[in-house]
Amino acid sequence: MLPAHDIVRRAGEMREFTLDVPAPEKWGEGLVAIPEGETIAVEARLESVHEGILVSGTADATAVGVCGRCLTDITEPVEVEFQELFAYPGEEATDFEVQDDHVDLETLVRDAMVLSLPFQPVCQPDCPGLDPVTGERLTESAGTEQPEPADERWAALQDFTTDHDDDAPRLVARNTEES
Ligand SMILES: [Zn+2]
Repeated sequence: MLPAHDIVRRAGEMREFTLDVPAPEKWGEGLVAIPEGETIAVEARLESVHEGILVSGTADATAVGVCGRCLTDITEPVEVEFQELFAYPGEEATDFEVQDDHVDLETLVRDAMVLSLPFQPVCQPDCPGLDPVTGERLTESAGTEQPEPADERWAALQDFTTDHDDDAPRLVARNTEES
């Protein structure tokens, strides 16, 4: 809730605010969410325009939760931008109104933050997830240093597909050369 009494109905006037506010409740229902009490760092600019107060700014916070693949605890920085016109009351019904010369940013900031929360958060971009057999978390090396048995088999087949042999792999190779 930011005071705007000194710029209300004074188009062209502007005020800037920087404030840290605790999240009044848990924001978000997914794998990661902004916990209640988490500090939301808000920078807001209030501009008085003919129709009301134009509010724009940024909000930063940290979401906590679990990786969608391996269920490791993760934290995720969340930064959003917002902009909304808070209209003067009495005219058309709007979602956002100047009330008692104040603007209430909670819904605006909450909606922007919740929308920006990742739907499939991961602890790292190439998280290998859980082993489908053991259910344990795969290590990074298990995901990247896999031997390539397919190549080894091909290498073995090459020994058999020399000129005196005449099976499918050699035909495939010949077709490739012709094309
Ligand atoms: Zn993970």
